[in-house]
Amino acid sequence: MADLTPTPDRPGLHISKPSPSAPASAKAVCHCGASASATGDTQVATLVTGWNAHHGTAHGK
Ligand SMILES: [Zn+2]
Repeated sequence: MADLTPTPDRPGLHISKPSPSAPASAKAVCHCGASASATGDTQVATLVTGWNAHHGTAHGK
């Protein structure tokens, strides 16, 4: 899992959910310098929505 963790050198959004009953967690690092993390299914969903709208591939256009 450590290999998938995004870093400023390798930006991205990584979501993990160890098991169906465990809460999801997410960590995101953007090439613009922003970073965010969230734990819990609802929080992760909110993070992903905001991230896709304002960071990640939304920058490249
Ligand atoms: Zn960004």
